[in-house]
This record gives sequence, structure tokens and C-alpha cells, in this order.
Amino acid sequence: MRVIRTCRDLGIGTVAVHSDADAGTLHVDMADDAVRIGPAPAAESYLNGDAIIEAALTAGADAIHPGYGFLSESPDFVDAVEKAGLVFIGPSAKAIRAVGLKDQAKALMEDAGVPVVPGYHGPTQDPAFLAERATEIGFPVLIKARAGGGGKGIRRVDRAEDFEEALAGARREAESSFADPACLIEKCIQSPRHVEMQVLGDSHGDVVHLFERDCSLQRRHQKVIEEAPAPGMTDDLRAAMGDAAVAAARAVDYVGAGTVEFIVDGAEFPSTEAFWFMEMNTRLQVEHPVTELVTGLDLVALQIAVADGAALPFAQGDLSIFGHAIEARLYAEDPANGFLPAVGRLDRLSFGDGARVDTGVREGDEISPHYDPMFAKLIVHGKDRKEAFRRLGRSLECTHLSGVETNRDFLVRLARDEDVVSGAVDTGLIGRKSVSLTRPPEAEILDFAFAALAALRRGRDASSDPYLILDDFRVCGPARQAVRFGEDDVVTVETTGAHRHVRTPLGEVEIPDVSWEGDQLTCVVDGRRVQAHVRRDGLVVTVDRKGALRRFSMAVPDGGGDTESANAVLAPLAGRVVEVSVRPGEVVARDAPLVVLEAMKMDHVLKAPREGVVARVCVSAGQQVMQDAVLLELEDSA
Ligand code: ADP
Ligand code: ADP
Ligand code: MG
Repeated sequence: MRVIRTCRDLGIGTVAVHSDADAGTLHVDMADDAVRIGPAPAAESYLNGDAIIEAALTAGADAIHPGYGFLSESPDFVDAVEKAGLVFIGPSAKAIRAVGLKDQAKALMEDAGVPVVPGYHGPTQDPAFLAERATEIGFPVLIKARAGGGGKGIRRVDRAEDFEEALAGARREAESSFADPACLIEKCIQSPRHVEMQVLGDSHGDVVHLFERDCSLQRRHQKVIEEAPAPGMTDDLRAAMGDAAVAAARAVDYVGAGTVEFIVDGAEFPSTEAFWFMEMNTRLQVEHPVTELVTGLDLVALQIAVADGAALPFAQGDLSIFGHAIEARLYAEDPANGFLPAVGRLDRLSFGDGARVDTGVREGDEISPHYDPMFAKLIVHGKDRKEAFRRLGRSLECTHLSGVETNRDFLVRLARDEDVVSGAVDTGLIGRKSVSLTRPPEAEILDFAFAALAALRRGRDASSDPYLILDDFRVCGPARQAVRFGEDDVVTVETTGAHRHVRTPLGEVEIPDVSWEGDQLTCVVDGRRVQAHVRRDGLVVTVDRKGALRRFSMAVPDGGGDTESANAVLAPLAGRVVEVSVRPGEVVARDAPLVVLEAMKMDHVLKAPREGVVARVCVSAGQQVMQDAVLLELEDSA
């Protein structure tokens, strides 16, 4: 979608490629033309370079833009594209190869005089040898897959005795995700900040940097919120990092848009001696819009121009930063449940005002388990950091989503967190505050009241049906109705004309008048106008108010029983079984790991809900399972 938008602007026709799972998606509809390249699994479609090149040739394309993921950093793909007589919009295969593996990249940067994180990045992979290096470097250390990306294949190790197990875990993840188990060891920087420089090179040997982005707000080494400029940045540090980034790009004759990532010691910030090269990303990055908003440049347009042989239209001295920009990534995931990726249909999707929205989905679209769970980004701009965060919070609060679990509330809290707003960020902030950032919000009186009003509301457009109007009409006196939520939360609504008197488990409230516009409820309470988005889907009512979503489940009238057998261990989401750790007959303690399930690119360890004996194992490694599939059954120990 991002590439199509710029191409439209430039009058360039576009051809989308898609898998079967994406046949009806937004990017396919938006492009001038679309070609199917294979079935849902990425390995058979988006990672199938031959199919993509064939699609380009069939459609008569001149060039291929690889986007942000998949084959965007594959030098073999670049070679194949060029061999087919097409232009690859990105750097040369040689440049990608030079920095594609973190170990080689670090060695190369060391030679180019760029500071690198102390550690071991040599070829020896013997676990005992690596453990010795780790001890030499000094704990804590990070084990990193040399082929890694997206925060995968990284393990932090604090104690020598944990090293071996962590190495095995990093290797397994690296092997399955990148088909390369080799790892490097790095000193773990304390209170680290992630600051990266955007670089841009042309085919005439010119390289500039487009300033920095701070991506320190991360969870599990994955970026959540990114901003430009970095809080507290000084001209000196910016110049030093800019020079290092340009030197890094020059060392590989870089052409196109790229990012040089640095780890910065937060305790020493803004010292010009306390930043080190981590890796180079040889593509446009997900967070590039913040750079676009503060520089006023279109990075995709520049990528295309440079790929077409044009010289950079500016020199370093022509560039400057205006105001402050922040990006927040919206994911289909459940923060309260360990950020477990979520799938489902986006029954409702509307974004708040005041932000640039980059998304690939629209209301009614399905979030499938096949690809990354990120579905949209909100990017705001303000005259300063404070204004930008205020705008971000407001825009997120007015973003309404339902049908799929998302991280919106988590982002709202983050955008309003006092440490975040004051600029005291480091990569550990989210982890330290994760309990308060992800705790489900307590329901308040108004939430109960609104949930009850929605539960008692019949039909979407009651005004067209006289019988529905009379739903709470009584000839003699007020109508009294009751709704039960959960086990024993009863809310009663007494209606007299338009007036409601609502009793909730937390207290009572008078609501003189209520008006609905779709899901949006407006009323006046204690002289103040209150708004909320309230939906009822079957027996679930959601109240979305002030950036916090509360969910109420209406009691099943009768006959509803406990459908979940306490003996069965079910798949919490659709995915692939990586490992079954137990065998039938085995006695397991509570919380013992039973099955490792890979879904949405992440490993999930399913643990025993209670102690018992494994009665039956219903799946085996490699098997694809649906949500709620029975993985194994327990029985009581004899
Ligand atoms: P990836 O290729 O997965 O992006 P990176 O090497 O860029 O891997 O590291 C990802 C994140 O891990 C960084 O943004 C940072 O938060 C953290 N990190 C990486 N190296 C270090 C280090 N040496 N010390 C502390 N944190 C680090
Ligand atoms: P019944 O079939 O029991 O006679 P009615 O249709 O006469 O029921 O309605 C009973 C009373 O309800 C009527 O006397 C009228 O005042 C009131 N009523 C009926 N329909 C409406 C309406 N659409 N809006 C307001 N009041 C109504
Ligand atoms: Mg990185």
C-alpha cells in the first residue's frame, strides 16, 4: 500500500502480487493489476522469488519494489531480478551480502572505523568455546542469530549456568526462521537505547543521512513506538552518528534507502563515545514514516528515483528537521495474555483523526495466522514531542476496533506514560512496566451502565420499527429490566420515558437521555456529555471509552454448560506444533511445558494447567492445528 501510494503520485502503474490468503485484500484492489503467486504459506508465495519475477515479466513491469519484509534483504533474489532484466528497487546484491549477516557486518564496520558492540563474532560455533567467550566478555551478554532479524533469535543471558540452554534456544529459533543456526555473542549494554540513522545513497557515489529515529520503546526486541528526532539528541551526537552511518554505507557502496542501527548507552547519553553499530538494514523500514514527516521527503519516491539512476536531489546541508513525529504500531495481539498474536475478522475498524494512517486492511477484513500480526500504523506530527504524544494518544483513543484482540489500549497507555512523555526511554521500559501497561482496566459504573443499555438495545435501527420502540415502554410506570454479566454482576435499568435509572454492582447512575449513532453512544451524566463506542456481538458486549476497552459477557440464559474439559489441553490459537515435550503415561507437574506451538512467527510454550498423567497425545511435531484443537489429554494421577 505504501509503495502503491507513491507510484500513483508519480504516475507509475503498479502490479500487486498476492497469495491465495490475500486474494481480496486492499493492496490487490488498489493496484492497477494483480497476479497470484501461490498458496497462503509465505514459503510458497511471498518467498517464492521465481514466481514473483515471472509475475513481473508477465505483467510487463520494469522494476520490483520488495517492500519491508520477505525477500527485501535477499541478495539471491536481487541477482535473479537483475538476471531477468528487471530493476530491483534497493541496494545491490553485493551490498546486501556484505552486511546481511551480523557477524560479517560487524567485522566490516570495525575495518571502516565504525564503533561496534564488543563481543565475539568469529566463525567458531562450539558451545563450550562460545560459553568461554561469554564469560570473557562478562555477563549479561546477548546471543544473537547472525542471520537474525525482527528481534528473533536473540537471548539475553545473565548467568554462566544459563548459557548453554539459551544458546540452544537461539539456535533452534535461528534454524527454523533463517535456516542458519550460527550465533554471535555481544556485550549487553545496560539501559540501552536504540537509535538508528536513515541513510540514502545514489549510484553516483553520494551518500547522505536523513537524521535519526529513536526506537527504544520495544517489547521482546521488537519496535512498538518510534520517533524522530531522538529525545535529548544534541547536534554533536547527531553529527557523530551521522558520520558513522554514512561511513558504514560508503563501506559497502550503498545505493538506495537503508538504516544503520546503533545501540546507545542511555546512562552516558548524549556522549559521542557511547554508541556502537549493531546492524545495517538494507531496505526501507517499517518506521520510515517518522523520518518522512520530519523531513518532508517521500522515501519511496527517492528509492525509485535512485534506482532509476538519478542523483540525490539534495546535499547533506540542505536537509533539516521540522517538529517531532511518532509512529505507533497496531498489532492483532493480546497484551494481557503475553501479547499472544490474535486472528479473526475486523468487524469494526475506524481510525482516529490527526494521524497519518498506513494500513493494509479495511473493515471486514480477516487477520489470518499466515503473516505478521501488525495491521496498521498511526503516525503523528507535532511542533514538539509533547504535542506529538498528545496527538498520538488522542488519535489512538479515537481508533475503534473490534472482532480481533489488539494492542490499542496498551499503546494509549504507553503514549500517556509519564516516563515515555518525559523522554526517559530505554529498551527495557516496556518490560519493567508491562504489568501496569497490560493489566485489563477495571470496569467503572458507566461501563456497566452502557453495557446494559447495549444489551437491552434491540436491532440496529429501532426507530423504523414501532414494536422495538416500545421495548421499554410500559403503560403504568417505568419499565424495569435486568441484565446479568459474568457470574453475578446484575445491572437493572429502570426506564421512564427517555430517562434511565441504572443500578450497577458499583453504584447507581441517572442517565436522562441516550442517543445512538451506530455503535456510538452519547449521553449526559451529571451535566457532562459522555461518549463511548458500545457494541454487542452475540453474548459479548464491549464498551470502548477513553481509550480503554472493557468486555462484558452476558450470562447464558439456560442450558449453557462448561464446554471446556479440564482434562484437555487446547491450542490457544491456530499454529504449527514445533515440539511435544511429553509422552503418554508421563506424570507432569503443574506448569510443566507440554507442547511448543509456533504461531504468527512466535514460539508459545503450553504448560500443564494442573498436575496429572498424560493420558493421550493427539498431535505430533510439524503438525498444523486449528484454534481449540485438542493437543493432549491429562488424567488424574493414580
Ligand atoms: P534484529 O535484527 O532482530 O533487529 P538487532 O541486533 O537489531 O536485531 O537487535 C534488536 C534489539 O535488541 C535492539 O533494538 C536492542 O533493543 C536490543 N539489543 C541488541 N543488541 C544489544 C546489546 N548489545 N545490548 C543491549 N541490547 C541490545
Ligand atoms: P392493543 O393491541 O393491546 O390494543 P395498542 O396498539 O392499542 O395495543 O397500544 C396500546 C397503547 O399503547 C395505545 O393506547 C397507545 O397509546 C400506545 N401506543 C401504541 N403504539 C404506540 C406508538 N407507536 N407510540 C406511542 N404509543 C403507542
Ligand atoms: Mg535490528
